[in-house]
Formats: sequence, structure tokens, C-alpha cells
Amino acid sequence: MNKKIIMAILIILGALSNVVPAEEQIYSRELNELNWIEIQKWVPSKIDTVLLPVGTIEPHGVINNGADNTMPEILAKRLSVPVNALIAPLIPYGLTESLAPYPGAFGITENTFKAYVEEVLIGLYHCKFKNIIILNGHGPNYKILKELAVKVSHNYPVRILAINWWAFTDDITREVYKQEGGHAGINENAAIMAVNPSLVRKEYYSPELALPLNDSWFASPYPASILLYKEGEGYPDFDAKKAEIYLNKVVNKLEKLIKDVISKWNKFGL
Ligand SMILES: [Zn+2]
Repeated sequence: MNKKIIMAILIILGALSNVVPAEEQIYSRELNELNWIEIQKWVPSKIDTVLLPVGTIEPHGVINNGADNTMPEILAKRLSVPVNALIAPLIPYGLTESLAPYPGAFGITENTFKAYVEEVLIGLYHCKFKNIIILNGHGPNYKILKELAVKVSHNYPVRILAINWWAFTDDITREVYKQEGGHAGINENAAIMAVNPSLVRKEYYSPELALPLNDSWFASPYPASILLYKEGEGYPDFDAKKAEIYLNKVVNKLEKLIKDVISKWNKFGL
């Protein structure tokens, strides 16, 4: 082969390398692990979406106190390639309320949480991300996250989607388990079991750990850390096979939502 042909092949290969999908070249999807030169190369030209896991620490029946942190982080890892996003470091402290008095648990105040998360969202915008997808693991955070999605997207040219992963996928709990779930109930227990079985302490389990949620009485500390969405349903079942099926369906449904929302933002020029 003569030199000219070799040079032509090299030029073509060089050009092709610029259009190779991001996941084939980038060695990590986590902002924590990437170098600024790499981030400059990828964001926003090839990746303009960031996943922001948000959670808290509070008791969860027989799974880890940090379950609301574990799940958004794992979901971010599973979703980052399919939705072509990077992953921001987790925000691990949130609005733990009536479960805060349990061992190893506490919450931060609403004002502190709000101010902190707002600055993180603005920071991610300054890092040139166009789409911020908040993967929330803890219910009481949601009100503030919604307020901030509105505020920050009004003040900056950035689009924000906040998702309560377990609530958005409650139809999957019904599909796989034929019943409603619960906080640290059959669904959340399954999710943790599917990602890391060592975080499930089955030996501590007793149905006494569970109470149905209700609107007619309230106690703090709440006298149960498994909170059933429907009386008589949602008790953990420790079925590893079903847990795997449940989690895969959850990831697929989240992937579809994120892609749909981003494509509508783009389509409508928002
Ligand atoms: Zn939880």
C-alpha cells in the first residue's frame, strides 16, 4: 500500500473517531472520576444531560439506613449509558422527618436542603449541562425539588426533571407483586436486594416492623419503619428472582421517561 493511501485511511479513521458514540470512548460516567479536560471534551458537545441522585438517611425496616441514597445512585449508574448522561455526586442528606429519631438517622432542615440543592443545580448548569435529571430516593424531598425545578429553570436556560423513582414505577410493583408496595416494603426491599443482597438483613425481619400509612393519626418517632401504602399489603417477601425482574422493569420505565421528556423538550424548543 503506498503512503498516500495509508494517509487517506488515517484521515478517515480520525474523522470517524469524532462520531463514535460516547459510551465507546468515555472511561467513566461519573463527574467524581472524570478529569476536567475530558469533561471539556464531552460536555455539552456529546453529552448534555446529567443525572443527580438525591436521598437521605433514615431507617428502612431490614435494609440499610441509606437505601434512599443507594437506589438513586445505582439507578443513575444503570441509566447513564442508555440516556447518554454523566452522573453528578450524590446529595446524601435530605428531609428525614418522623423517622429521624431512629439510630443512625437524621434530617437537615428544609431551608438548608433547599439552598444547598439550588446551588448544586445552578453549578451543574454552569458546567454546561442542558438537562438535569434528579433521581430522588426520598418522598419528603420531592416538594422542594419541584419548587427548585421551577425556580432554576425559570432563572437559567436549563431543563430539569425530578423523579420519585419508586412512585413513578408503582404500577410495576402491582404488575410483579400483585399488591401495593411500601416504604422499605416489598418493592424497595426488592430493589435493594437486586443491587446488593448483603444490605438486606432478613434475620431481623418481623411483620411487627410494619404499619400501614394513614391520614388519621401521626406519631413521631413513627413506631414502624416499614410503611405500607395499603393495609395488609407490601410486606417484604425476599424473593431474589422477582426482585431482579422488578428492578429491570423499573430501570426500563425510567429510561423511557427520561428519553421521552428530553425529546419533547428538544422537539418543542424549550
Ligand atoms: Zn426509602
